[in-house]
Amino acid sequence: MPMPQVYPEPASPLTEQALQILQKTYGFEAFRGAQNDIIHHLASGNHAFVLMPTGGGKSLCYQIPALLRDGTGIVISPLIALMQNQVNALQQLGIRAAAINSNLSGADISAAKTALRQGLLDLLYVAPERLLMDDFLALLDEAPVALFAIDEAHCVSQWGHDFRPHYKQLSLLAERYPAVPRIALTATADAPTRRDIIDCLKLEDGRSFIAGFDRPNIHYTIVPKNNARAQVLDFIKEKHANDSGIVYCLSRKMTEETAAWLRNEGFAALPYHAGLDAETRARHQERFLKEEKIIMVATIAFGMGIDKPDVRFVAHMTIPKNIEAYYQETGRAGRDGLPANALMIYGTQDAAMQRNFIDVSTAPEAQKRIEHQKLNALLGLCETASCRRQAILEYFGDACTPCGNCDTCQTPPQTFDGTIAAQKALSAVYRTDQRFGTSYLISILLGERDDERILRFRHDQTSTFGIGTEFSKPEWKSVFRQLVTLNFLAVNVDHGGLSLTPRGKAFLKDKETLNLRRHETRRMKKPREASPFLPKDGDIDQALLDAFKTARRELAQAQNVPPYIIFHDKTLLDIATAKPQTLEQMAHIHGVGERKLAKYGKAFLDILRERS
Ligand code: ADP
Ligand code: ZN
Repeated sequence: MPMPQVYPEPASPLTEQALQILQKTYGFEAFRGAQNDIIHHLASGNHAFVLMPTGGGKSLCYQIPALLRDGTGIVISPLIALMQNQVNALQQLGIRAAAINSNLSGADISAAKTALRQGLLDLLYVAPERLLMDDFLALLDEAPVALFAIDEAHCVSQWGHDFRPHYKQLSLLAERYPAVPRIALTATADAPTRRDIIDCLKLEDGRSFIAGFDRPNIHYTIVPKNNARAQVLDFIKEKHANDSGIVYCLSRKMTEETAAWLRNEGFAALPYHAGLDAETRARHQERFLKEEKIIMVATIAFGMGIDKPDVRFVAHMTIPKNIEAYYQETGRAGRDGLPANALMIYGTQDAAMQRNFIDVSTAPEAQKRIEHQKLNALLGLCETASCRRQAILEYFGDACTPCGNCDTCQTPPQTFDGTIAAQKALSAVYRTDQRFGTSYLISILLGERDDERILRFRHDQTSTFGIGTEFSKPEWKSVFRQLVTLNFLAVNVDHGGLSLTPRGKAFLKDKETLNLRRHETRRMKKPREASPFLPKDGDIDQALLDAFKTARRELAQAQNVPPYIIFHDKTLLDIATAKPQTLEQMAHIHGVGERKLAKYGKAFLDILRERS
């Protein structure tokens, strides 16, 4: 029997037009993931909620529908400082984009308003505060609006970690402009946050597009702290000596000191925190975006909305608040899809500090309990002996197999039955009245009398004195660290003394078994030889790539825009590998649309010719 012939369904005109725009304007070959469905859905006049990881390609999901529909796409975004960059990037593609915000002159604002009223803009970026002003709403009433895109939509939710009261008032969009499609986009939202976004923006009758959370090009490494500075320095020197990256610190003071120290070590490092004046912050952010090889040493005040594609690493000198925050912060690396590294250094004192932040906050008790659970989940991630990515994705409700691209996959930690070790350690804490720190307790377990307090308090007479000689000092340190991160022991933030938590007491009483990670003294490994995300080193002509980068820098400086707005690293790599001979061939390169081909194609072809 002949097989029934299956013909592909004819593409709808809308889909075909969208593909044309993708290829001609953006210079990309094909849509990724759900982009095509989302664009079709929105361009047809429907509402949507989009959850996609950073770098997943959310912007196209509203930009292309805005180009397909009549009128202007209004993009609501929380950070006015970054709008100009987005506008510049779009203008480079030949898209008619503008922003209206307080950084602009009165003349610029009125020009943008006129263009909006006359339907001469494809996209307009505004902050929610601006959108909600009466005169702006009056303007929107008259203007042809293609759609509303609400970026960083988790800001509407008090559950989310970035609540902004003005975002909540965006509920008026549904009431005032019911016929205009709304699309809410975010990269971080747990289930309650998602519900809040959908409720608030009235997206119930829209569709939800939930993409997987995975960022396969990011490599995760999490290490216990022994000397955070030396650990970070090793990491940067070994893997990222010529890259842009972010180093996150807990306090303002620490960002300044760390940045100064990195500068001393020969790196271009800048501090960023909410205590710096606005002008300095803007300048540092600008340099980070526009220059290469800048390391931003920042508190969490830095990062939201930063869409610099070539951030190659994110290092945490101290633990983040929870897994959501960690994922969002590390997600700023590798938006261009090329390999990137995330390093976290965690110490028990930092964990204690985070606990203390929660305890002393004014949040209601129920909220505090949630925060503590979230912190425990993060610490569990630090101590896990299995795949980091798996642990993270499972936290967000996604399944995944061991990834092969994280520290635990590449160097699986050994575990051992730590029940007796834990019992001994907890007893030592208990028998010394729960007020001493780790090193003192280890002296007790090892039966040392060096610390004069041991004799003074007659702790050499306790039943735990000298019962732990089967382990070395570093091994006991690792046991204590794990008991803190597993929440069997609490650290007093003021003097570092350890005490039993309810969980620790229950463990001593119930005699559960406990697996612990074996202490290891390993140095960080170099990245794997054959990363699936990079052309093999031998295939790239480094001198050629450097020549491209120089040309890119010059073109960027002449227009006062960041280099990646001219071409992404990925585009330069592709040109260096494919070595196109003609403009026609050049047009097939990733990220080379019609406009950029016309503007920059020849310059890069000339470099290729000179060097071949
Ligand atoms: P998000 O806003 O989700 O973090 P972006 O919209 O900034 O992500 O896109 C991330 C990167 O991926 C950008 O450099 C963008 O140009 C690129 N990109 C998006 N869609 C595609 C596609 N279909 N093909 C190739 N590159 C794409
Ligand atoms: Zn893994």
